[in-house]
Amino acid sequence: MEKFQEALLAWYRENPRSLPWRGEKDPYRILVAEVLLQQTRTAQAIPYYHRFLARFPTLKALREASLEEVLKAWQGAGYYRRALHLHLLAQEVEALPRSYAELLKLPGLGPYTAAAVASLAFGERVAAVDGNVRRVLSRVFALENPAPRMLRNLAQGLLPQGEAPGEWNQALMDLGATVCLPRRPLCSECPVAPLCQGRVDPGRYPGARRRKVREEALAALVLWGREGVYLERLEGRFAGLYGVPLFPQEELPRRVRSFGVDPRFAGEVHHTLTHRRLRVGVYVAPWDGEGAASRREQLVDPGEKPLPKLMEKVLRQAQAFLAHEGILPFPHAKAHGVKPFEPG
Ligand code: SF4
Repeated sequence: MEKFQEALLAWYRENPRSLPWRGEKDPYRILVAEVLLQQTRTAQAIPYYHRFLARFPTLKALREASLEEVLKAWQGAGYYRRALHLHLLAQEVEALPRSYAELLKLPGLGPYTAAAVASLAFGERVAAVDGNVRRVLSRVFALENPAPRMLRNLAQGLLPQGEAPGEWNQALMDLGATVCLPRRPLCSECPVAPLCQGRVDPGRYPGARRRKVREEALAALVLWGREGVYLERLEGRFAGLYGVPLFPQEELPRRVRSFGVDPRFAGEVHHTLTHRRLRVGVYVAPWDGEGAASRREQLVDPGEKPLPKLMEKVLRQAQAFLAHEGILPFPHAKAHGVKPFEPG
């Protein structure tokens, strides 16, 4: 075990990744980075990290912002529930608690994120096990489909005495992110190769986590007019965000009747959520809100509202179709200098 610890730490100290949150001690900034990294690749997360912190540099600034402002700053990063939780958390605490156990009680913080913040910001001896660490440990110890609790106990037991726990956690994560890669691990460059039991057949570990993915056929109705696009406030997993009406494909005739429009098919977009693969038919129709005064107020510039990624795809598809027909849609998005819906 000591050899493993020494080899990995020596490698890490010579090959640290250059990331904007490396060496960071402010727990709030570490939290923002870790929350972003929950579902976003490192390279993609970096611009969002800078943008979010430029807008909300402290927990206090986040607390004082409206949910809509926070969601807007998160736009494009996807998985908006993370931003909802950050905003909620900012309302709950004045400052981030200093222990793993207390951090774990906050909204949106699972064992990994709580351990990362506790070890990196406060030096608590707690192992942070993310997907990278799971893969590295499963291979080094030749474990097929290890249970999460067992893996956490193993990782906890590996924390070296007398070393900074945050540094150790990062070393393991970096090995997984840069050397012990999911498909083609670079075993010949690996500092712990001589100690690795899974090296002969790394593809066998940790074993695939099978997920059942459900296919769904949906329809999206893009109603556009001089004022913009008809957007509704979404509910459920997209609460706080906006989008065009989205419903099961078979409901299309009824929904079309309720708006009194005659839409055209503008193409299809595909989108994958954690357990669902969506095939969304996009339908467009000009609409002035005739006969629906309360709805007319909801013809808005989509560039001004926080939208989930799926809705961005739908609106891009609609705009590309309309542009092809020689119609310049959603003029207001451009008037505001916002161009999230360029064709292509
Ligand atoms: S030797 Fe290969 S499989 Fe083992 S930890 Fe290193 S990169 Fe991963």
